[in-house]
Amino acid sequence: MKKRHKLVVANWKMNPQTLEEAKKVYGAIKKKVTQYKNVDVWMCVPYIYMSELKKVDRKKILPLGAQNVYLETAGAFTGEIGPVMLREIGVTVSIIGHSERRALGESDNDINKKITLSLKEGLRVVVCIGEKERDVEGEYLAFIKEQLKSALQGVEKKELERVTIAYEPVWAIGKSDTEAMKGKDVHEMAIFIRKALSDLYSPEDVLNMRILYGGSVSSLNTADIVGEGHVDGLLVGRQSLFAPGFLEIISLVNSL
Ligand code: PEP
Repeated sequence: MKKRHKLVVANWKMNPQTLEEAKKVYGAIKKKVTQYKNVDVWMCVPYIYMSELKKVDRKKILPLGAQNVYLETAGAFTGEIGPVMLREIGVTVSIIGHSERRALGESDNDINKKITLSLKEGLRVVVCIGEKERDVEGEYLAFIKEQLKSALQGVEKKELERVTIAYEPVWAIGKSDTEAMKGKDVHEMAIFIRKALSDLYSPEDVLNMRILYGGSVSSLNTADIVGEGHVDGLLVGRQSLFAPGFLEIISLVNSL
């Protein structure tokens, strides 16, 4: 079986506060990242910095990503950014369905529309799923399965190569590194998610899809999460704003 190439996705969220800082962090990551051949690195940054960050990376070393995309291409949608706009300025990927956006009212149906439209317009998507809390009866498993099913409704087999799943248990986001999910539990979820994907498509169709983990990742828990967790990479929030820490995570994933 062909080994899936590892992937680390940065989610800067609404950070940093200045363009100067954004350029500094982006430039520092770009400078070192090419030495890590076993891992792809995608940078999901605030829209407002994209054009300037492209200038920092004229050779397009770091694929530029968005953290959200609107569910229509154009029209009277004040304040929104559509997938064609993103594609036209060189964005290749968008995170969709992050729990922080779901908390703002984004529904499963909105998320599905964003995914299908983005794929139609040629973008890649990183689809976030994850339970808010765990229950002893294991109902969170049915919840995850339903999130996947709803997100991928209408996504064609041939489009799956542009879909990455990021499993982000909401309870593990924004915590200390010791509160991230443990590798052995990540492994259980990675198996569960691939099985759920296989049921929606077929095991062969989803063989090359990457499943990431996200939630309080740092260089201290990366080896456990990726090594023991057997995921294909990571979605990294806070630590992606700190170039040395983020590069350390990339280096560890590269070596696993
Ligand atoms: C996230 O919100 O996608 C995330 C992974 O954040 P953090 O790494 O800061 O927990």
